[in-house]
Amino acid sequence: YSVRAQRYQPQNFHGLIASEKNERGKEVLWTLTWPDYCGEVFPCTTDPSDGVTAQWHLTLADDQGIVVANGRRDEVTPGPTAGTSTHHFVLETEAPTYALAFTVGDYVVDEGGISADGVRFTSYTFPADRETAIGIWSVIPAGLDFFGATLGPYRFGEDFSLVEAEFLLGGMEHVTMPFIGRFDTVQIELQSTVIHELSHHWWGDGVRIRYWADFWLSEGFAEYAMARFYRAYEGEERFFEILDEFKLLAVSAMEDDPHPVRPPEDDIDVLEIFDSIPYRMGAWVLRMLEVRLGTETFDALLTEWFETHFAQAVETEELLSAVNRVSGADYTPFFEQWVYTAEIPQVTVRFSTNG
Ligand SMILES: [Zn+2]
Repeated sequence: YSVRAQRYQPQNFHGLIASEKNERGKEVLWTLTWPDYCGEVFPCTTDPSDGVTAQWHLTLADDQGIVVANGRRDEVTPGPTAGTSTHHFVLETEAPTYALAFTVGDYVVDEGGISADGVRFTSYTFPADRETAIGIWSVIPAGLDFFGATLGPYRFGEDFSLVEAEFLLGGMEHVTMPFIGRFDTVQIELQSTVIHELSHHWWGDGVRIRYWADFWLSEGFAEYAMARFYRAYEGEERFFEILDEFKLLAVSAMEDDPHPVRPPEDDIDVLEIFDSIPYRMGAWVLRMLEVRLGTETFDALLTEWFETHFAQAVETEELLSAVNRVSGADYTPFFEQWVYTAEIPQVTVRFSTNG
């Protein structure tokens, strides 16, 4: 099938988004289908457990800009009319439908290095932001090496790109080519966003979630993976800084709008839990499991979780089973307390010194 885009400007940044002209006088066309708007771009199932491979065939005017889509950049063929070309991309490994995307813009393309196992990193930045973005994003080969060595090899081919996105806050884990918002890139120069989005190629895009209620198995895992990267890359102090920040955000989210890390209903509106509870409290659940099981045992569990469930969907009860099996103990009470209950325990510590 084909979709013809004619300066379609939907409300609410859903689906296919065209800004008539950006501040540089260039047309920008991009998609954002998370969580369940893929149907506005292509026929799809919006279930987060659904995994799809994809081929993009994008026909554009030759002066329209650089096009980026998921997977391997394949051939460019002449378009149906003079001055147009069709750009082909192939994604051969399954990913969730919300992770499919393409964009067209006035990008500068830079090679950003290659990982130890041969994954090429490419950055797509807007001209004015190029230098800043490339500086922050240069961490990617180290990130690929870290996740590759600790969780298992990158399984989405030989290419990984970061793509600057016009109006996005934060990032979006579009498979093989996450979008990183201009705000995070040039306003606050936040590097942890790109590590978070990279880690989704193991958690979320790689191991998918069965229900939106299991959102923390994607976002909590991604936040925890990001913290673990900085522990290896910058040291313990940075690791504990990140964990402290997570704690403050989780407690404040729990005060504002309490809900469990994993709500009881399977099929929920994910926007109702789109806060620091699945993200930061989810990461803390993993940190607590790491401390209880010991880092080595817990890391082995994560590696096995990735190996066993890559390109499949998982739910929280399966994680509980895996923890029980690996530990030889019953973690049901732990999950009841931290994952299935909307509460931050209040702990009072009294101490006295003697002598
Ligand atoms: Zn994320």
